[in-house]
Amino acid sequence: MEKSNVCVNCQNMLAKVSAKLKLNETELDILTTPRRTFTFSFPIIMDNGKTKIFTGYRIQFNNARGPAKGGIRFHQDVDLEDVKVLAFLMSLKCAVADIPFGGAKGGVAVDTKSLSSGELERVSREYIREAYRFIGPNTDIPAPDVNTDSKIMAWMLDEYEKIIGRHAPAVITGKPIQLGGSLVRDISTSLGGIFVLKEVTKELKMKTENAKAVVQGFGNAGMNAARILHENKWKVIAVSDSKTAIYNENGLNIQKVIEHKKNNKSLKGFKDAKEITNMELLELECDVLVPAAMQDQITKNNANNIKAKIILELANSPITPEADLMLEKKGIKVVPDILANSGGVIVSYFEWVQNSMNYYWTREEVLKKLEEHMISATKEIQRICREENCSMRDSSYILAVNKILEAERLRGVLR
Ligand code: NAD
Repeated sequence: MEKSNVCVNCQNMLAKVSAKLKLNETELDILTTPRRTFTFSFPIIMDNGKTKIFTGYRIQFNNARGPAKGGIRFHQDVDLEDVKVLAFLMSLKCAVADIPFGGAKGGVAVDTKSLSSGELERVSREYIREAYRFIGPNTDIPAPDVNTDSKIMAWMLDEYEKIIGRHAPAVITGKPIQLGGSLVRDISTSLGGIFVLKEVTKELKMKTENAKAVVQGFGNAGMNAARILHENKWKVIAVSDSKTAIYNENGLNIQKVIEHKKNNKSLKGFKDAKEITNMELLELECDVLVPAAMQDQITKNNANNIKAKIILELANSPITPEADLMLEKKGIKVVPDILANSGGVIVSYFEWVQNSMNYYWTREEVLKKLEEHMISATKEIQRICREENCSMRDSSYILAVNKILEAERLRGVLR
């Protein structure tokens, strides 16, 4: 029988754990086949008066544990297969984080740097005009991802509310505070990752004062991670964006780097640092390497050159499955994306809860709840690691797979 819609990359990612858990074919198919896949094309009138067609995607991968949830990525390389993998990871992530959501992801194949602000707004609003039929506070809740931010979420919310004719802030998360966004959401991915890192370094009995950190990517996830690490007295020796990487073995002054990036829209030209390539950055000797940019950065071609002791995956899928095995053999501790960057979706969940009850928490309340969630998920994964003698990635997959399959069983989908 043909399995046209199964995500082969997702099956590869689950292969090791699937064998360990002795999953049968039906269970594996349930876990790796997206439930709903939407592809749409929409014309936009550009500033020069010409019409351009864009392609958008939305995938609701699994909703056994709750409404589908996941970001919308704007990037020139976005394609259906990428979105499938990202939506699959969201399903696992929500299970690991123990929040009542399934997984989804969306995207538009677009180079945002080539758009004016008006064109960007038209693309964002048109995406919602295409997607509004199948998203909603109890069906599928989008959020920001690469190249989409709170301003874009505000346009999308506004478009959705105009179409349905009433307020519905819980349809989308990562909104500006004034439109129902949650305090802490802007730094939640990075802060959540640092809470996990603290637990991991504690377990490894590693001293973190002046320990060396390297961060790839200087957007929402990477810039905030570099800043929080710096504030926590780590020595951040290198950071990068899509154009360059900067390195100073004595540590970068991250506040100055942030100002430079804001003023110049690039890390290029930062004084007090040497420019290196993104690939050289990944291979620097350090205590923690934080990939916080794109997928597939550590592959079989460079895995053996990685010298970090710990890799904290703030990006989704920055390490390919082959490279992951190579890193494990080298004894590098990898903190997997579905745990490391789950702070983002956890505070998105808090935002959705606050929107749903129309009552808002203080910053302290959100921070406390985020920390509790991150520590409890990390401890659970560390426990499974010890019991199963496996990596943190395998352990988090085991936790997520068992939770999703249990929900499917309770629904009667699996016997
Ligand atoms: P962003 O658009 O704010 O920033 C992306 C950064 O990566 C930019 O600095 C960009 O210059 C840089 N970059 C792009 N291509 C690069 C390359 N090839 N090499 C080095 N740098 C490159 O995006 P973000 O929200 O920070 O997301 C980054 C990663 O974190 C993505 O994988 C995303 O899925 C993941 N993530 C983000 C969140 C969140 O809440 N923002 C939550 C979970 C996971």
